[in-house]
Amino acid sequence: MARSIRTIAVIGAGQMGAGIAQVAIVAGLRVYLTDTDEKRIATALDAIGRNLDRQVAKTTLDAAAKFEAIGRISAGSSLDGLGDVDLVIEAVTEDEAVKASIYTAIGPKIRTDALIATNTSSIPISRLAAATDRPAQFMGMHFMNPVPTMDLVELIRGKATAPETVDAIRALAIALGKTPVVSEDFPGFLINRVLIPMINEAIFALHDGVGDVVAIDTALKLGARHPMGPLELADFIGLDTCLAIMRVLEAGFGEAKYRPCPLLIARVEAGWLGRKTGRGFYDYSGATPVPIPAR
Ligand code: NAD
Repeated sequence: MARSIRTIAVIGAGQMGAGIAQVAIVAGLRVYLTDTDEKRIATALDAIGRNLDRQVAKTTLDAAAKFEAIGRISAGSSLDGLGDVDLVIEAVTEDEAVKASIYTAIGPKIRTDALIATNTSSIPISRLAAATDRPAQFMGMHFMNPVPTMDLVELIRGKATAPETVDAIRALAIALGKTPVVSEDFPGFLINRVLIPMINEAIFALHDGVGDVVAIDTALKLGARHPMGPLELADFIGLDTCLAIMRVLEAGFGEAKYRPCPLLIARVEAGWLGRKTGRGFYDYSGATPVPIPAR
């Protein structure tokens, strides 16, 4: 039987970390949520509270269960609260050096039998594992955005990941109400190898003037039954994350087809990262998003 995970720490209180913490407390786990940025922690706790209130209003969660769930989360900027966790889920910025520095910092602070999972969208798991003191107890647990509503969790085995680690993380994914798929440790894994080049190609189409923002998003929504257009989706994911994933694909495969579109690079350099900064391919400052022309 897979080892049971009851207490976790989530490092990174951004959009993904907050969502992971939310589904975990609702599923009955104890969660310590941590981030170097106190403001992100406050925003995450606020968002979790509001999301659970919405679930209560929709009667998908009862008020007592919400109260108990909120009682299972604690948060802070210190990494000292990790001593008792069964698992750390790292969900910080998509930057290998930042992730590696966290693994170095947490190794001595967590139990020797504790597992570490990374929510990375694209960084090779075996390489990240080498930065930990426990490669056999390390793997990818890639949640989709928004975590509370998306059913899939992609599980990525590193070269050194032990079968027991995969079993425990798969059982956790199921306990969180998710459907796991296992993919191998290739650049971009499974989802993002397909999804992010599609988004990048849509940005090239905008850059080349093949169509405007609305035409491109409408084409994919109505022509391919995508629930969101690729540019809307890019804004939703975060343009910095999309660019980081393209760079991983480009470096990992060395093929020109993975070259990030200059327009994506330009938007990221301008700090237009999508919804989280209020601008990307759309402007989110008003009541409804307004498309921003390519130039
Ligand atoms: P985000 O920018 O919303 O949040 C990242 C958080 O990490 C920030 O709150 C930041 O303060 C924190 N952080 C940075 N350095 C830190 C450190 N040293 N210690 C503690 N916290 C630190 O990003 P996100 O969209 O939540 O992405 C987080 C991870 O999840 C990335 O690896 C990303 O690739 C992955 N991911 C993102 C999506 C998506 O759609 N956004 C989907 C799946 C996976």
